[in-house]
Amino acid sequence: MPSSFSGAQKRRWAMAKDNWDALAPTGLPNQLMTLALSPPFGGGHVNYGKRTDNRVCLTFDDGPNRPCTEDLLDALGELGVPATFFCVGWNVQQYPDIAARAAREGHDVGNHSMSHSRKQGLMPLGGDHIDAAERVIADAIGKVPRLYRPPWGWLSPFERARLSSRRYTVVGWDVYTRDWKLPETDGELMARTALPQVIGGSIILFHDGCALATTWTKTQTVRAVRALVPMVRDKGLEFSTVSDLLSIPAYAETQTPTLKALA
Ligand SMILES: [Zn+2]
Repeated sequence: MPSSFSGAQKRRWAMAKDNWDALAPTGLPNQLMTLALSPPFGGGHVNYGKRTDNRVCLTFDDGPNRPCTEDLLDALGELGVPATFFCVGWNVQQYPDIAARAAREGHDVGNHSMSHSRKQGLMPLGGDHIDAAERVIADAIGKVPRLYRPPWGWLSPFERARLSSRRYTVVGWDVYTRDWKLPETDGELMARTALPQVIGGSIILFHDGCALATTWTKTQTVRAVRALVPMVRDKGLEFSTVSDLLSIPAYAETQTPTLKALA
């Protein structure tokens, strides 16, 4: 890496290399697509807030699942940390009560597609995977999500156009914890590894579940969060939801056409 690179450029290249290494077992096509379509180089995501901001975000993908999401909500409640959950529609169908609890407790609930298919996002036509998840999430929490994170972060130009026309903000990340890997990495180690990467405006990626799985018994993500939160606060940083960090709406206008007609 050229020494003339700025800190931000070095950070991006380090993250790309980390993605590349982490995805090596999944094959070269996945690595190449991820490099081209996902953070930090893929186009169109918002990967972090203002670097002068003293707030950062915890984000959790692929849930809700039992017991991991419930354990996490307990931990976040004890720590006083608002977070953002990117939920898979299929999983929300299994556990609408957990998605509702997350929203009720002040967390943002975003859309992470209906079935976590990467292929659907690559297709020139379609959009059911976005709309079906949106309906399921809205039924569960009573609000229509406007934050979206594509499965694997893959954002094709087609998918970007679909999401833009639906008024979604596409949220990426700039801190990648690799907590999805099995066997699980020790939570304390994950927290210590992530800590130097967490700076003002950071959006940190964790997983509270597994798409299309009804149970998720991993425990190290919750341990990592419990370890990371006080260390981040010691750096003078605080936690917020993605919508607060970016000053954007997490949800669409709640009025339905019927209610508007009656008004
Ligand atoms: Zn995912």
